[in-house]
Amino acid sequence: MEKPEKLIVDGKRLDGRGPEELRPLKIQAGALKRADGSAYVELGANKVLAAVYGPRELHPRHMQQPDTAVLRCRYNMAPFSVEERKRPGPDRRSVEISKVIREALEPVVFTKLYPRSGIDVFVEVLQADAGTRTAGITAAAVALADAGVPMRDLVSAVAVGKVDDTIVLDLTKEEDQFGTTDMPVAMLPRKRVITLLQMDGSFIEEEFERALALAMKGCEQIYEAQKQALKARYSIKPEEG
Ligand code: ADP
Repeated sequence: MEKPEKLIVDGKRLDGRGPEELRPLKIQAGALKRADGSAYVELGANKVLAAVYGPRELHPRHMQQPDTAVLRCRYNMAPFSVEERKRPGPDRRSVEISKVIREALEPVVFTKLYPRSGIDVFVEVLQADAGTRTAGITAAAVALADAGVPMRDLVSAVAVGKVDDTIVLDLTKEEDQFGTTDMPVAMLPRKRVITLLQMDGSFIEEEFERALALAMKGCEQIYEAQKQALKARYSIKPEEG
């Protein structure tokens, strides 16, 4: 990808969005037949599937915890998800992202209800254009709810950052690559508790405050779409009585 001269022209980003706008978002709850719960998310050019299995007896058994369920997460990028073929299999980045996704989701799951059990969350990135860890968290939260896992809240996630000295919501790959700062954020939308906050680049304090407020606003929009997706799947349609 070549570096464009400017990422923001006359207040508009290269894809036509204003600084505080999300990319087009589509969420489908229940996309897979064989998983206990699933969700499919498109955010701009990102395409992410999440599948949940469990709570079920945890194997290997030595991983079982007598007083709680164990939440396991695996983030994986398909070889065809990026411009240059991605080498299949785990790497440092996917191991790190799997860990932060687990930490972002764990606070909402009532794990204590399921001693000795395991809950497995698989996040599969089919197409990537920056913001896949946050799209993955957004999808995984819907998939957990779709699996009927008891939860305190959903988890909604989006990245914010700085490009051409402007604070922007939901960076594209181009903005992530050529911008100054990328800050993925996950939030429990009802309690407004942050469960993921990473930063690549830097902000001065005032920028950080504005970026965090913008991320939280973005998460609220994502939360509405997550609720809609779950309602669409579970509402009783009139013709079905
Ligand atoms: P996130 O997808 O959560 O923003 P990163 O900031 O690490 O995570 O990655 C930004 C983007 O860079 C990804 O969404 C993807 O488009 C691209 N990318 C990441 N890893 C690779 C890779 N191994 N090969 C090609 N592109 C990649």
